[in-house]
Amino acid sequence: MEPLVHLIVPVLIVLAFKPRLDKRLVLGLSVLTVLPDLDVIVGHRSLFHNIFFVIIASLFVLLLFFLAKSSKRMTANAGYLSLFYLSSHLLFDIGRPGIPFFYPISDRLYGVSIRVLASSAGGIANGLSLHLDPAFVINDLSLGTTMVNSPAINTFGVMLLLVVIILGLSSWRRKEW
Ligand SMILES: [Zn+2]
Repeated sequence: MEPLVHLIVPVLIVLAFKPRLDKRLVLGLSVLTVLPDLDVIVGHRSLFHNIFFVIIASLFVLLLFFLAKSSKRMTANAGYLSLFYLSSHLLFDIGRPGIPFFYPISDRLYGVSIRVLASSAGGIANGLSLHLDPAFVINDLSLGTTMVNSPAINTFGVMLLLVVIILGLSSWRRKEW
């Protein structure tokens, strides 16, 4: 998934559904939504794309807020936000070829691929039929690590972005009325 979508979608979800959360916290921690992709720099596209990194990084944020003597409420919110932001990254990356959820315990990539197929098998005169083609995919780690180029924006990302913007706007409008 593209960095822009990784960042904007979860932030908009939080702003729309938790409007009373401290905005400095919501925006300040939003960098976590793209943090996992920094493992590209390390040259190992699995180091930060797993459930253990999500937990350890969230605990680290908790620790920072604790050491900074933030209020209990602020610290707890920071912990929840970190968990949400980091997990959202893994969730958005779950398409093909999958993500190394349990790395370093397991070297496999796990993913879910959902496609909607249009078929005109009975001849176009009989109409098109749509059917869902969900599939669980388990791939070898090498498939993920060899993926060097990723699209900056794709159709699915743009559609997802639009849906979230509309949802956000409608919930904001409701509060205004
Ligand atoms: Zn990623």
